[in-house]
Amino acid sequence: MDQNWNKQLLSFIADSPTAFHVVENLGKILENAGYTRVYEEKDWNLKLPGKYYVVRNGSSLIALNLPAEANRFLMMAAHTDSPSFRIKEDGEEKVLGLYTRLGVEKYGGMICSTWMDRPLSIAGRVMVREGDKLSCRLVKFDRDLVLIPNLAIHMDRSANDGKAFNVNVDMMPLLGSDKMEKTLNELIGEELGVDPEAIVSRELNLYNRTPGVVWGAENEFISAPQLDDLMCVFGGIEGLLSVDQPREALIFCALDNEEVGSTTRQGADSSFLDDVLHRIWVGVGKGDAPYRAALARSFMISADNGHAVHPNRPEYADRNERPTMNGGIVLKYNANQRYITDAVSAAVFQELCSRAGVPTQRYSNRPDLHGGATMGNISLSHVSVRALDIGLAQLAMHSSYETAGARDLEYLIRAAQTYYASDLRWQGEDVLIS
Ligand code: ZN
Repeated sequence: MDQNWNKQLLSFIADSPTAFHVVENLGKILENAGYTRVYEEKDWNLKLPGKYYVVRNGSSLIALNLPAEANRFLMMAAHTDSPSFRIKEDGEEKVLGLYTRLGVEKYGGMICSTWMDRPLSIAGRVMVREGDKLSCRLVKFDRDLVLIPNLAIHMDRSANDGKAFNVNVDMMPLLGSDKMEKTLNELIGEELGVDPEAIVSRELNLYNRTPGVVWGAENEFISAPQLDDLMCVFGGIEGLLSVDQPREALIFCALDNEEVGSTTRQGADSSFLDDVLHRIWVGVGKGDAPYRAALARSFMISADNGHAVHPNRPEYADRNERPTMNGGIVLKYNANQRYITDAVSAAVFQELCSRAGVPTQRYSNRPDLHGGATMGNISLSHVSVRALDIGLAQLAMHSSYETAGARDLEYLIRAAQTYYASDLRWQGEDVLIS
């Protein structure tokens, strides 16, 4: 098995502990491939054919690979954020005359126990005053800086019997002794080479320092932080980059805030995608009605990891549709349309995968359990196109260290390549794929 893609993914994850870093690193990858950044607050003056990208809030990005003449958008989306703990700006506390710890809030729904007893660090963004200017700077401490200690089993005999974690008590990370001379802002100032007094505000998260690995008897598994959803972010962008001369307008969206419901200025439940697509269309001299028709001819793949059947707890998987790691791309179904895959979009995607030699499998939540949701149905409320939800099968979703199949990333990249190189021509619900 060629592990080259997995190695690249693990290095991307190690460099990208927050959504801000994900977007910054995607920007670097795109610029190396000849893409130019355009800014929402300025005129675009797009030249066709052309490769561009747009960033909103530093945490969501849309990449555009545009041909000289496009009739439709072929789109794919994944999310940049992952569950973590947000450090309060006034959260630094000296306790017991012994320790300095940090107050935190939950971001998203994580498995709390997986954040304990392992080296963690801090990353995010800060606003720095530079004369009249407030400048946004990313920060990532590249060292083991904090840890959340468990309570010894001798003090909590119920530790293995199912435990509730109180974020306000149990999950506060330890930063140092009470004698530590520097404040967190002073440490950040040192890291960035700025006066700590000039740090005006900040958005910082904890991140897991444990490096990702490929493992197993035949190296069949990959484990790392943030596989949900950086596997799909990385797979999607590599698929996009593989097409040099697009036949249609190719769009890749890496969107923030999926883990908290997407209702932000930059999430899937915002105007971001519609704003960008509309500006492209109008910017090249086409009106609103042709834009609506182009949407009706378009397609969206919403890519977000899904659940593999668990080796020890298979009873939580559906009886009939239970994906396995290394089993290929998962199509996600839900009768109540929390996943938007339907017969038409599933047929298109399965046909593309079959042409790419990529296996597919199906996922449904066990019918008597509540499952998660993702970006697909949310983004369609703003840009209503034919679409489906897919993902790669993984274990331990929202653990601080997740596990997936080592073959599946390559499957996703090949499927994305084939999709972005194809053309879909619709008449009603009939489609010609070339
Ligand atoms: Zn996800």
